[in-house]
Amino acid sequence: MEMEFTREIYWNVGHGFLTLGPMYLLALTAIAILAYGFLLRINVYKQGQSLARTDNPGQRTVNTIKTALLQTSVTRVTIPGIFHGLFFWGFFLLFIGTTIIVIQADFTDLFFGVKFLRGTFYKLFSITLDLAGLVAVIMLGALFVRRYILRPEGLETKRDDALMHGLLFAILLTGFIIEGARMAVTEIDSPLAVWSPVGFVLAKSMSSLDEGGLRSLHRFTWWFHLLMAMGFIASLPFTKFRHILTTSLNKFFADHGPTGKLATLDLEDEEAESFGVVTLQDYTWKDIFDADACTLCKRCQDRCPAFTTEKPLSPMKIINQLGDMAFQGKMDAVVDTFTRDAIWACTTCRACQDICPASIEHVGKIIDVRRSLVLMEGEFPGEEVMSAMEDTEVNGNPLGFGYASRGEWAEELNVTVMADNSDVDILYFAGCFASFDARNTKVAKSFVTLCREAGIKVGILGREEKCCGEPMRKMGNEYLYQTLAMENIETLERYNVNTVVTTCPHCFNTLAKDYRDLGLDIEVISHAVYLDRLMKDDRLSIDGADVSCTYHDSCYLGRHNDIYDAPRQLIGAAGGTITEMEKNRDQAFCCSAGGGRILAEEKIGSRINVKRVRMAAATGAHHLLSNCPFCLTMFEDGVKGAELEDQLIPKDIAEILVENLKKKTDSAARGPFIHSK
Ligand code: SF4
Ligand code: SF4
Repeated sequence: MEMEFTREIYWNVGHGFLTLGPMYLLALTAIAILAYGFLLRINVYKQGQSLARTDNPGQRTVNTIKTALLQTSVTRVTIPGIFHGLFFWGFFLLFIGTTIIVIQADFTDLFFGVKFLRGTFYKLFSITLDLAGLVAVIMLGALFVRRYILRPEGLETKRDDALMHGLLFAILLTGFIIEGARMAVTEIDSPLAVWSPVGFVLAKSMSSLDEGGLRSLHRFTWWFHLLMAMGFIASLPFTKFRHILTTSLNKFFADHGPTGKLATLDLEDEEAESFGVVTLQDYTWKDIFDADACTLCKRCQDRCPAFTTEKPLSPMKIINQLGDMAFQGKMDAVVDTFTRDAIWACTTCRACQDICPASIEHVGKIIDVRRSLVLMEGEFPGEEVMSAMEDTEVNGNPLGFGYASRGEWAEELNVTVMADNSDVDILYFAGCFASFDARNTKVAKSFVTLCREAGIKVGILGREEKCCGEPMRKMGNEYLYQTLAMENIETLERYNVNTVVTTCPHCFNTLAKDYRDLGLDIEVISHAVYLDRLMKDDRLSIDGADVSCTYHDSCYLGRHNDIYDAPRQLIGAAGGTITEMEKNRDQAFCCSAGGGRILAEEKIGSRINVKRVRMAAATGAHHLLSNCPFCLTMFEDGVKGAELEDQLIPKDIAEILVENLKKKTDSAARGPFIHSK
């Protein structure tokens, strides 16, 4: 008779009440403890304010399943990510395999006599689970070596970590012992044995034991394995294991709004007793849930420009302090726990949020505390910030210039001012730095020159333009931001502007995203994208010169808006050969000026901009190209601080294009301007 490829489920332990009764009782108890544990946690989340995060449930579910199963977020940091991903897939397959076994034994076979674990399917099933277990053990070992032997800086090791490693090792190893003992009695000489290679090797190693010994070992280990597996389920809410559920669920509740847009405060709300976050209860439930989803992987901290320049800000610590406050029921001011220096140090670069595998939103939590400090206490990180706010209140810019001189930079180019003639193709929203700062007015002039060469009619608001309010908003001054924004919106609407182009990514992000909450709904384009369009439309001719350069992705064009290729294409068109820096594209290191820090002195730790220009100099390139007035300002300052003036020249991409511009002869030949999207 031909051999059937299958095995007896519940071999040696029996399939009667004496096995199933305690087994299912244990399972139900574990599930009840799990449910109770999470109910307790839900009550803690509920301390926070309400927030709607369940719209579009289909898309949210797909995102959650994709991220959890494919481990896409985790594997962005390659080595530990692959260890974790492979461990997850191994363990997950074992879980699915065990569930399939239970379904056959206790349901389809028991009630309907249907067995599907047989034949070729069973052989494939056996080898898949066997290898999955092996991969899981090896990867768990690799993670153990990383955490306990290599000990990367900043990776904290707590009681939970030891428990997790110990329990998972025990579950996996006892699983193999059960398999080995069973195979030593039932399969050692069978052709089926090769389909469980790890079990087969273990079975061979146990061959000195007699059948009685093997059966006793099997039975004891089977119950021990079951007990630990149920312990694992019950422990989920009370240990770091909970991240299996909370981290995945946090993807479901992720913000689907535009990246980097802050929530707009209702400053007219007469019921509001405070603005921003004073105590933990001012945060939303999602902020508290975020803390419960953190895996303490420290990726955010490793990338934080403030933390890596010795400032007292660790985004990981902020999240975990918030969680501790929530679970300890602390009612005092959160800023006393976070500390003011930590709160003011953030540049809102989004490096933390971008890399976080748990979809945690760090930036809003920090800005919310700034809002309470500014709006409730009138507190700023320094006199210089206070004075910049006052200047902005009076003259619409933080640089101390009179509002009436805002359009003077454009006079020598005779740029159209909207008040005189609003028949233009684009409105160039210059922003404060390009309007007043001598270094940055060169960028504004370069941009206008390029547009003119392309036959584009450019208009500016001149003295009617106000600061977009971004640095004030990021510093927590929501009131001043909204005042400036409403004035700008009123002006743009008065001129019926359809398309705004900016040379400042902070203006771009604010006008394109934040102003929408206040009613502005027009096209806003960054100059990098706009110039790239003009090049593609053959409206600009550039003579490529041989330029040795590196390129800095500003946080607000890069991570906040995913614009990485257009600037690189422009640099290529200008003959630039880019040597990429150590941290580039979505991993780029901040210049230090975001989050309103452009208005503040950097008093703690080493200088972020100096660190960045050193990264640029290490490429050996002669030009440090960027796309943002804040970056340019910080790099001009940084090359001096690092004594690299002779080595590295900071420039905006518009400047390098204009330097290599092949002058057109006939603008009419380009035809009328049709705005392409
Ligand atoms: S936004 Fe940037 S500076 Fe702020 S905490 Fe995150 S990584 Fe650090
Ligand atoms: S906040 Fe995110 S990136 Fe930071 S430690 Fe927690 S899980 Fe990791």
